[in-house]
Amino acid sequence: MSQADRTPRDGRALTIGPLAALPVFFELTGKRVLVAGDGAAAAWKAELLAAAGALVDVYGDDPVPELRELATRIERVRLAGRSWRESDLDSAALAVAHFADRAEAERFAAAARRAGSPANIVDRPELGDFQFGSILERSPIVIGVSTAGAAPVLAQAIRARLEAVLPQGLRDWASAAAAWRPSLQSKPIDVALKRRFWARFAALALADRGDPPGPDGLESMLKEVSDGQAAEQTGSVALVGAGPGDPDLLTLKAVRELQSADVVLFDDLVSPETVAMARREARKITVGKRGYKPSCTQEDISALIVALAREGKRVVRLKGGDPSIFGRANEEMDALARAGVRFEIVPGVTSASAAAASIGRSLTERDLARRVQFVTAHARNGRLPDDLDWRALVDPQATTAVYMGLQTLPVLVERLLREGLEATTPAALVENASLSRERSISCAIADLPEAVRKAELTGPCLVLIGRALGPPSLGREQAGNREERRKV
Ligand code: SAH
Repeated sequence: MSQADRTPRDGRALTIGPLAALPVFFELTGKRVLVAGDGAAAAWKAELLAAAGALVDVYGDDPVPELRELATRIERVRLAGRSWRESDLDSAALAVAHFADRAEAERFAAAARRAGSPANIVDRPELGDFQFGSILERSPIVIGVSTAGAAPVLAQAIRARLEAVLPQGLRDWASAAAAWRPSLQSKPIDVALKRRFWARFAALALADRGDPPGPDGLESMLKEVSDGQAAEQTGSVALVGAGPGDPDLLTLKAVRELQSADVVLFDDLVSPETVAMARREARKITVGKRGYKPSCTQEDISALIVALAREGKRVVRLKGGDPSIFGRANEEMDALARAGVRFEIVPGVTSASAAAASIGRSLTERDLARRVQFVTAHARNGRLPDDLDWRALVDPQATTAVYMGLQTLPVLVERLLREGLEATTPAALVENASLSRERSISCAIADLPEAVRKAELTGPCLVLIGRALGPPSLGREQAGNREERRKV
């Protein structure tokens, strides 16, 4: 083809840049594929090709046990029991080979070319016609990532990223689409409605919200869309645990919610790094005590969430740590339930877990700490709550995690000692657990208030008390995410 032939004639600009390789998806069901080689690489390729429905003939003198096992397990994989010959390539839809010897690889590539079978030579992409991508499977949805051999590890990392954002339930949605398509095509409905139907379908599938589509799903979804209810019903709320601050500690589900949100409401405790994970176009509203407006009461927040959901928005309410721990989640859930707004809860890593990880301790320890209790040291009036269970709090077998405990720490410690807690009980305080600005103090409980006073802490602080927090036993000296660097 001459250069002139390739120039678009109709004046349209080419809308795609140069591609290192063309991603195509090969239909292999029932087709014969040849694999030459007898090592583990050949076994993996044979398994992959069989998974795609191919009849796989494997040629090699001395197949590794993996290959033999594969042939026993999967009927479509057959071992020829000898090495390949040129005539084996006739009628092969694809030819794949792995040889240690370059000369043999070159011979194979040349033979495949003569036979007209596209070839892949494992580890020698320059000899073959096609390469395998790094595969993300939500079959019937299949994604292949290729770097055209430049950096296979990067391709795997990209695949891992995609794994994180694409819900597992996507496969059910895609299967439903395949089942519904013919019956939808045969319905006398206009194109605009069909388009709306598929748009709604895609939104639900990507968020994996609602029930996985069953056989009756088509009719009810179609009715919903044709009644024009879709816009109204799209509004929904997720109460999402933002974890202790480090965005790497968000759950995959939390990231998915953030990336499909229209509006994100968050309070002071949620780190800017976490808010930054939200979809760029999402409206971000701070409802913390220091943000929004001074009168931002819990009622205001609940009312705002309900109002946004009623406008049809996908609302993500980000709460520090786990929403169900000292997060006033019930008040928001009640308001949503009263307003008839659908919501779901996405749990998160609570700051007690993050604090324990930071200082390299376990919250429980066989024989020493059989119980963990989460308490708040901050009553409505800002003082130490007067209805704490002191017997439980001085239980030497328990680990206590104190939330919102900085202000009342001196009073709390004084009372704990008075109630009978050993003055030498190990304790720790972690400020900004999981964040780069994290600091920690570890000492006996009796010394903690003074050490804390000197440290002039300003970030959120979690106090841990109990024998499990004691000095590490042999073999645990290396533990702890950041302890050595950031100890106060
Ligand atoms: N739902 C949250 C707790 C909310 S109460 C959770 O599960 O973690 C707020 C208190 O949580 C703060 O006063 C502090 O005690 C604790 N906290 C939250 N984030 C923290 C962090 N990164 N480091 C230390 N403590 C934290």
